Amino acid sequence: MPDSNINCSFCGRKKSDVEILIAGVTGHICDQCIVQAESIVHEERVQSGVGGPDSFDVQFNLEKPVDIKRFLEDYVIGQDDAKRTLSVAVYNHYKRLAESNISDDSEVEIDKSNVILVGETGTGKTLLARSIARLLKVPFCIADATILTEAGYVGEDVESVLSRLLQAADYDVASAERGIVFIDEIDKIARKSDNPSITRDVSGEGVQQALLKLLEGAEVNVPPQGGRKHPEQKLISINTKNILFICGGAFSGIERHIERRVGAGSIGFSGLESSAEKSNEEGHILSLITPVDLKSFGLIPELVGRFPVLTHLKTLDKEALRRILTEPKNALVKQYIKLFEMDGIELQFDADALEFIVERALEFKLGARGLRSICEAVLGEAMFELPGKEGVTEFRLTGEYAKKCFDDSDAGRLKVA
Ligand code: ADP
Repeated sequence: MPDSNINCSFCGRKKSDVEILIAGVTGHICDQCIVQAESIVHEERVQSGVGGPDSFDVQFNLEKPVDIKRFLEDYVIGQDDAKRTLSVAVYNHYKRLAESNISDDSEVEIDKSNVILVGETGTGKTLLARSIARLLKVPFCIADATILTEAGYVGEDVESVLSRLLQAADYDVASAERGIVFIDEIDKIARKSDNPSITRDVSGEGVQQALLKLLEGAEVNVPPQGGRKHPEQKLISINTKNILFICGGAFSGIERHIERRVGAGSIGFSGLESSAEKSNEEGHILSLITPVDLKSFGLIPELVGRFPVLTHLKTLDKEALRRILTEPKNALVKQYIKLFEMDGIELQFDADALEFIVERALEFKLGARGLRSICEAVLGEAMFELPGKEGVTEFRLTGEYAKKCFDDSDAGRLKVA
């Protein structure tokens, strides 16, 4: 048969209309049909529980809270309160799972310990959640609350959060049902006004209401590919009862709510007053945060009620930032040393270079988030010039060199402007 007369036996497309046409014993199949068939097989497997990683039942490691915290120390600098609270919450959550695996008829049902982490940007909220997931070897995904809207509006439905978790679990539903979801910027969906009914609030209270459904422990129908772009996709049912939700937010300005509450409550109670003053002196009124403050900030009471564990992260000071640069297992300094090592160059950081990087990061007010871009700025030229340069076996980053490179860089110019 001439090539031009060969068709795909499934969709009938001509050879000239497809990229690849594979010949079988009695027919042909085109690349597009192969892709479609693969996704049908995958979906069928997921729905029938065949395939994917083994059952998850025995896969999570039930570490004790002190062990969880010790593990976190390797990755997260400081934030002791948050680490302790999170370690206990996660331990209890997984104890609860272990319990529900053993007996279903227990009279005492342990509630879920969803967590809210309050702290400025770049203080380690995502890192904490990610590290916990790494320890427990459970699927983990990050979703941004700001892109979520109520169903029917432009943006993503809240179910898309679970689509991500399902993808992170490689479409193994049982594994996803015990995963961890980190929802960032939860403060951005706070109610904008005190009166909930004035206008439609599709990206605020509406989303909070929609999220409740996920948090309550319901069967939720999830589009496996996420989004609304594939209306034809079959929905997969996921039970959220055992999914741990950790939310993070800067809650900028919440200190005022805390102060007002603590101040108001302290009329005649000098003890409270002094504790507020003391915290304020230390720059840490946040340590007095309670669920009441989240409500007055604009989270609806039902949502706050679904997050029994509330903890805060401290603003990172100079000392913490310097430790973050050098101490964690995958500290930035260690990463750059490795990168240079791969070119046969021994990289050294002078103390005043580290000092310079930390001071710029403090100025940028991006927490540890700023460290990376500052390092890129001060090492950019060396990373461009040195690889392959004859006779170069070591490079010392001095404070002076760091300053010069930084001032010449985009980051430095931005600062001047
Ligand atoms: P956020 O609080 O905004 O979620 P992230 O956890 O995403 O901040 O942190 C941003 C970057 O800064 C990450 O690369 C992380 O490794 C680093 N970082 C932030 N806080 C810490 C910390 N306490 N210890 C170690 N690294 C940190």
